[in-house]
Amino acid sequence: MRLVIMGPPGAGKGTQAVALAKRVGGAHISTGDIFRANVGEQTDLGKVAQRFMDAGEYVPDEVTNAMVMDRLAQEDAREAFILDGYPRTVDQVDTLDRMLDSLGTKLDGVLELVVDPEELIQRLLKRAETSGRADDTEEVIRHRQDVYAAETAPLLEVYGARGLVIKVDGMGSVEDVSRRIVEALPE
Ligand code: ADP
Repeated sequence: MRLVIMGPPGAGKGTQAVALAKRVGGAHISTGDIFRANVGEQTDLGKVAQRFMDAGEYVPDEVTNAMVMDRLAQEDAREAFILDGYPRTVDQVDTLDRMLDSLGTKLDGVLELVVDPEELIQRLLKRAETSGRADDTEEVIRHRQDVYAAETAPLLEVYGARGLVIKVDGMGSVEDVSRRIVEALPE
């Protein structure tokens, strides 16, 4: 099973992606987690990524694409993976298409978590109290929603035209959402 999980910041992608990767026995590939780990270790990649992330902007495509290409080529992603936070731009969709082509595989589906905009802000403000993430301030949280709407929401049309999008209601408890996802998964 090869899936992308999409949804605006605060939709619960990360939480659900971890559970889903376990369920399908594949790699959980979160670009945000990989960037944060690199920022923590102050690697070259981390130094580049940090200023974009702190401002709520996307890290440049060439940086992100190269990182995901490396990660997808690893053994644990061969049979199954959950891509969480990637692709986020049209350019990233193109790169992912080419990557999967060259690996001789394709996506089985794109899960879209749907959550009310005000609920998203509330969740992120709550997370901000404990996360210590530099991009969890109210101003940056709102900016990240705008960037998502402008750059990433259009990808749902691209994948929708391919018949890949599976919409799941992301409101309610983590368990409720998990159950809906499992019920909606492709065969
Ligand atoms: P959230 O889902 O809350 O926005 P993530 O952990 O997925 O958080 O991402 C945090 C930040 O990492 C993004 O705001 C962005 O700066 C960077 N990032 C993550 N994935 C990508 C990507 N595919 N392309 C560009 N930047 C990315």
